[in-house]
Parts: sequence; C-alpha cells; structure tokens
Amino acid sequence: MVKTLAAPAKYYQGPDILKDLYTYINHLGKNFAVLTDEIVLGITKDNLEQSFKGIEAGYDVIIFGGESTQAEADRIIDEVTKAGCDAIIGLGGGKVTDTAKLVADISGLPVVIIPTAAATDAACSAMSVIYDENGTFVVSKRTKKNPDVVVVDTAVIAKAPVRTFVAGVGDAFACYYEARACRESGAMNYTGGVGSQAAFAIAELCNKVLRENAVEAKKAVERKEWSETLDRCIEANIYLGGVGFENNGCAIAHGVYNGMTAVIKPFDAMHGEAVAVGTLIQLAAEKISIEEWNDIVAFYKEVGLPCCFKDLGVEDPDDELLMKVAEAGCTVSPNAHKMPFKVTPELMFKAIKTVEERNSGK
Ligand SMILES: [Zn+2]
Repeated sequence: MVKTLAAPAKYYQGPDILKDLYTYINHLGKNFAVLTDEIVLGITKDNLEQSFKGIEAGYDVIIFGGESTQAEADRIIDEVTKAGCDAIIGLGGGKVTDTAKLVADISGLPVVIIPTAAATDAACSAMSVIYDENGTFVVSKRTKKNPDVVVVDTAVIAKAPVRTFVAGVGDAFACYYEARACRESGAMNYTGGVGSQAAFAIAELCNKVLRENAVEAKKAVERKEWSETLDRCIEANIYLGGVGFENNGCAIAHGVYNGMTAVIKPFDAMHGEAVAVGTLIQLAAEKISIEEWNDIVAFYKEVGLPCCFKDLGVEDPDDELLMKVAEAGCTVSPNAHKMPFKVTPELMFKAIKTVEERNSGK
C-alpha cells in the first residue's frame, strides 16, 4: 500500500504578515488577481497596499459573487485571462478560497490562499468543494495540486467572528477521529494512498493542540486579541487539520455533514459546527467508552461547540428527518463508508439517536 503526504508547497503563518505578502509570493510573478469580497477587502486593503508599495508588481481585485459554483469559477477565469494575471490569490472565507483553487486548477495558474478566518481546514488541501446556486453540496473536486502558497495572518484571524473560530475547531477536531477510523479500515485518503506515519502524527498533534489550547484561544478571539495560544490553535484549525484530513481521509463525521446539507433546508449551521456533531455521531457509532464520551462532550461545552441537532438550529428534529439525514449521509458522499465496520442508514440513524438522547436534553 502506498503511504502519502501531500501539503501546500509553502506555508507562512504569523501576526501581521499580510503586509509582507509579496515577499512570500514573489516567485509566482508580478501581476496577481485577488479574489475576495467587499468586507474582507475593507479589512485587508491597507496591508495589501503596503505589501505592494514601491515595487514593480501589482494586483487586480475581483469581487466574489458569493457561492463556490462552476459558473462563478468560469466568470473569474474570464477576468483573470483578460487581465493577464500570473497567479490568483484567494483572500477570504472557505467559499472564496475553494473558488480560487478551482479557478487555478482549470486555468493552470498558481494559487495563493489567504484564509481570513480559521473556520475550516480547506485552505491547504488540493480540493475544491463545489455547490449549486442554492448552496447545496454538489461535489468535492480534487485539484491537480495543493496551493502553491498559504499565508495565514493570525492578527486578522484574531479579529474574525468567534463563531467562525469555534466552527474551525469543530472541523479540525474531527480530523484525528476520522484519521483513526481510516487507519483501522485501511481506507484510501485523498492523496492516492493511505496515511503515512507523518500524516497520522499530524492528526494526533491536531487533537492535542486543540485539547490544550482551544479554550484559551477562544477567549483571545472574544477579546479580538492575538495570542501565542491562539496562534497554535489557528495552525491546528488550518494546517494540521487540513493536511491531516487530506492525507488520512474523512469518515462518518464528514459523511453526516454531507447528509445534513442535502436534507435540511435551509441549513444555517457552519461546516465545522455540523462536522462537530458528525464527530459525535461517528463516536457513537464506534461505541467509544462513556468516559471518553463524557470527556469529549465536556471539551465541546467548554469551547462552545454544538452537541446535537438543536444546537445546529434544527428546532424539532423528528425521526423522519433524522432517518433522511442518515440515508443521505450514506449515499451523498463515500465518507461514511471509510469506517472499519459496515455503515448502513440504520446504523447511522441509531448513532444519531444516541447523540440526540444523550445531548439534546430529551
Ligand atoms: Zn471539513
């Protein structure tokens, strides 16, 4: 069996590093397209301008349409081609960065990813999640390569909404448990093999860093202040979780998420929030000990992670809805079938009910 480790070619992280952006990307060319939205542009404009001040290089701004769709990628490719850009920079949240990766993959241009929140582990991966115009998951497209450069300004992320940071903890927290399941089953990862020792060590480290730092890190985000603890946690949310999931594989935690977005309309929970509940569903399906369960749920509560469907904004999740989620969770994506045991909609439903009964107060 082939063991793999794939990651971004270069990764830079630290407070206020956006003002030196060009230093980290100057090997990619002189003319950049920055894909972003108005709000993020407002936050980052001064640093961007400072980074390109007095040098023979520049950038065009392309305002993102709001959804990571194929049509949006095609529109941006048109603009980037007309402007003759050397590389595309995805500056913003997960949908902006996913679209930038898709644009780069189709056009062949290098891509720089600058996440402005630590809400998901999407920044580092060779993967672009495509939705339709209504925000329904369509497909996770594998791109030909990981991003050329990932730049994480942790002072910017410190000022992002607390909810996005907590969601990012939820997404990254799934990584270790999904890695553990894939290692046991021998399931393929996303990079053409199974997780190497390095890949699994990254998943383990991700878990350890979150357990030791997430509670304190969240307080820093609440104060909108950068701290070393927060910096460590951001690395877990973005790099360790990202490289960790891609090289180890996903399992029920993300499978349930895919099921939720297909069935629950409207679905207002963030990716990482839903994945957090998915992790609990996976752990219930694995029948972990009640001690491990209580320990993890206590951590969830301290960090403020959702523990049941009601916490995700689903007011009255009846059995019919939960069964639909279980069925979709088994069919919309292959994730649920990476477990070391056979996963059926009935098994998934039972695990969902276990989580609901333990955590929803019903
Ligand atoms: Zn995820």
